Amino acid sequence: MQPTFDILVVGSGASGGWAAKQLTEAGLRVALLDAGRPQQDKNFTEHEQAYQLKYRNQADAYLRRTRPVQKDCYACMEYNADWFCNDLDEPYTTATGKPFSWQGRTRMIGGRTNIWGRQSYRLSQQDLKGKSFDGYGDDWPVNYSDLAPYYDQVEKYVGITGISENVPELPDGHFQPPMGLTCAETLFRTRVKDKLGWTATLGRSANLTKPTNGRAPCHYCGPCERGCITHSYFNAAFTTVADAMRTGRCTLIPNAMVHQVLLDPASGKARGVSYVDRTTRQTREVTAKVVLLCAQALESTRILLNSAPGGLANSSGVLGHYLMDHIWVGGGASGDFPELAAKASVNGPRRPDGIYVIRFQNTPRGPRSKDFLRGYGFQGGGATSFSMAAPGFGAAYKKAVLDPQTSVRVVGFGECLARYENHVALDPNVVDTFGIPVLRISMQFGDNERAMIRDMAKTGVQMMEAAGARNVQPFEVPDRIPGYGIHEVGVARMGDDPKTSVLNQFMQTHDIKNLFVMDGSCFVSIGCQNPTLTIMALAVRSCDYLMSELKKGNV
Ligand SMILES: Cc1cc2nc3c(=O)[nH]c(=O)nc-3n(C[C@H](O)[C@H](O)[C@H](O)COP(=O)(O)OP(=O)(O)OC[C@H]3O[C@@H](n4cnc5c(N)ncnc54)[C@H](O)[C@@H]3O)c2cc1C
Ligand code: SF4
Repeated sequence: MQPTFDILVVGSGASGGWAAKQLTEAGLRVALLDAGRPQQDKNFTEHEQAYQLKYRNQADAYLRRTRPVQKDCYACMEYNADWFCNDLDEPYTTATGKPFSWQGRTRMIGGRTNIWGRQSYRLSQQDLKGKSFDGYGDDWPVNYSDLAPYYDQVEKYVGITGISENVPELPDGHFQPPMGLTCAETLFRTRVKDKLGWTATLGRSANLTKPTNGRAPCHYCGPCERGCITHSYFNAAFTTVADAMRTGRCTLIPNAMVHQVLLDPASGKARGVSYVDRTTRQTREVTAKVVLLCAQALESTRILLNSAPGGLANSSGVLGHYLMDHIWVGGGASGDFPELAAKASVNGPRRPDGIYVIRFQNTPRGPRSKDFLRGYGFQGGGATSFSMAAPGFGAAYKKAVLDPQTSVRVVGFGECLARYENHVALDPNVVDTFGIPVLRISMQFGDNERAMIRDMAKTGVQMMEAAGARNVQPFEVPDRIPGYGIHEVGVARMGDDPKTSVLNQFMQTHDIKNLFVMDGSCFVSIGCQNPTLTIMALAVRSCDYLMSELKKGNV
């Protein structure tokens, strides 16, 4: 029987949106399946006040009844909690003594890009070739020069505000005009550069500052994780997926919880997927010439593990292994700048961005740490706010609260090493509400990550002191639980050798030529930069490869 579609894409988020756009615009017929509901502007609540909500956005305990894990994510709130999966219906398990917080499991078209923090950074050649630099782990099978044109293409379309810095540890990109820095951030940036030589720049964020493809520039209302009626931040739902739909060649199948990749026994090739319709609970099949999994690293790997005993496309045995996540807010510091006191205000503007301190250690130019490999950057910001923690009560308290407080806070995001033992497998005893076996996650940070966390607090203080801050407060979270970074990658790594990797450099499985995994599963190392810009650039590159292979008849 002829397959119904040319290409079947599972997942409509950052990676799947790009795949659907690229392939439909090239003339292919695509089925785009997603476990989530359609997203629409009418769901967006960025301009609603808390008093307009039933529970005034104060009912965390209530949300936790159905979303005990998702509620740990800062972006999950009364405004948007129903964009996240119900943890009771869709559980996962963890190995004894190894907690993992699997947050950000959205069930909406657009995936995590509905709620993401939009920080968008390139990986450098050093990030891709970590082993060559310090001997640990493996190099990626791609060079920065392979990715650069795709970073260019993605940045121009997505729209990223930023400042070019000419610092090799964080390659510059195509930036829209920068959102301004606050006075405190400007002072911090200048003094840190002068005294330490480190670069604190504007966060490179996927928020428009000029009109782009019919999308309006950001008007600084603030809470992008609740949606955006002017489509001013990058959300696949109203950008890449909308473009794919406009071609007339994309068939969107929402509420489709994909269970397995189906194989043609005669050819051994993928012939489609089976899924459970979330609304009717019926099992269905869709067929296509090529299957692309873009369901987010852990979810795509779960589909492969559920598709064959021992996992589909797993002749290497490494499927599910080398799970990584960033050390999120592991350590850092804050400090006050009373000399900058301005007046605090409840009004805007609320710039949806902050600052970013570029990695400065364990690089060819920087000092080498004796305590840890790889590096970390800082995210943060500086602003003037009310003194809400002022002591006292009554009139004295009201007056004290109005005393403005100008401070800067920076929090470290660090690279987690790729380790074989950090892995996921199917839990033999637990299924979700659709009857699909769930993941059992086994991950721990190690001594390298803990040493990095200690260092984040130390260098955070160094920067505050260099900037002349008062009341400098370091912090460190030595027992940070993995998962909080919400940047899970690496569980179907790419490589040249089919014996040690699941995917080739174009995210095509070594074992099955018409099966690709085009999300963050392919990462060989994680760097310290947020991963999504790289995920999107890799997906676009892989689509180019797929189209040329289709033309040659190789797939
Ligand atoms: C709160 C938050 C903040 C973040 N901030 C940043 C940031 O600042 N910078 C950054 O780079 N990254 C950030 N991220 C991470 C970023 O969102 C992800 O890296 C990115 O969206 C991953 O893209 P993806 O295509 O792999 O998956 P997603 O964008 O998550 O899309 C996956 C899609 O697949 C669907 N799906 C899952 N399982 C199935 C199934 N079995 N069948 C069918 N469909 C399925 C899901 O419903 C979803 O729509 C953040 C994430 C969160 C949650
Ligand atoms: S801050 Fe900007 S991008 Fe975010 S919701 Fe408001 S207008 Fe949209």
